[in-house]
Amino acid sequence: MKLTLIVPCYNEQEALPYFYAEAKRVLAQLQESRGADFCYELLFVNDGSEDGTLSVLKEFAARDAGVTYLSFSRNFGKEAAMYAGFCNAHGDYVAVLDADMQDPPALLPQMLEMVESGGYDSVATRRVSRKGEPPIRSWFARQFYRLINRISDADIVDGARDFRLMRREMVEAIVEMGEYNRFSKGIFGWIGFRTCWLPYENVNRIAGETKWSFWKLFSYAVSGIINFSQVPLSVASWFGILMTFVAFCAVVFIVVRRFLFGDPVAGWASTVSIVTLIGGIQLFCMGIMGQYISKMYLEVKRRPHYIIAETNATDLERVH
Ligand code: UDP
Ligand code: MG
Repeated sequence: MKLTLIVPCYNEQEALPYFYAEAKRVLAQLQESRGADFCYELLFVNDGSEDGTLSVLKEFAARDAGVTYLSFSRNFGKEAAMYAGFCNAHGDYVAVLDADMQDPPALLPQMLEMVESGGYDSVATRRVSRKGEPPIRSWFARQFYRLINRISDADIVDGARDFRLMRREMVEAIVEMGEYNRFSKGIFGWIGFRTCWLPYENVNRIAGETKWSFWKLFSYAVSGIINFSQVPLSVASWFGILMTFVAFCAVVFIVVRRFLFGDPVAGWASTVSIVTLIGGIQLFCMGIMGQYISKMYLEVKRRPHYIIAETNATDLERVH
């Protein structure tokens, strides 16, 4: 039985040695309890790091035959890094972990047991607390999960991490989802399969800094909504119907007032505000459509998800 660990890395030179030591400890433990039947593959994806991440990975690979690295030609984002991992993983079971130890490798033995015995296809993890995170970020995150679950049919759990262990079948399904705009939390939910949730306390990253600024996260959340829901598109129609109704009432009101009191010219200020309001709403709705069109534009161009510049893998399965 082979276990693949996919580790996306972007500027993680400080955290990687800790991660590697801990992962090796856990893998040795698994090897000991499972015997010769068990083997592993540590698949690091260097997402165009600007620091010494690649040389750290090369060092690991030089002394450990179980280490494979894929190095991108530039930063393509964590989603592309995970996709590259899924496309090139060989394991019967595949797990994705962050390099910063926020996804504790120590949970792996338990997760492996759960998929092997529990009749599940995957074990996903969920943070039960957001300790150590700025409160404003947690608030936005909570609102995001509430909104997206209401308006999309992909079931997305609040606090869900990308940290998961999956069976081969599920990995194949993910690779099949070749869309360019990827939102893994939605993809995992959309493909289905029996998933068991494992809650754990939030852990702070061991070294280095988070790669996600507030705005990066915010636009990731917006693209998550655009990718998994068509509801924003109908917002335009609803606004249209609402405004027509309001305008109709206003016309009736003005006609009646004209006949009762005369003076049709007064109220130009309110006219101007209404014109600007409607203009604003129209632009807003066009903006929503623009979002979908821009996603379609990227999708139809069928550009590769990532470009591998360097690797020690001898059998690249797919170069997407
Ligand atoms: N990451 C990546 N490409 C990016 C940004 C992040 O591969 O463009 C990796 C990063 O190296 C880490 C994981 O994605 O292993 C999660 O990133 P981070 O810890 O910065 O995010 P947070 O845990 O703060 O949400
Ligand atoms: Mg992290």
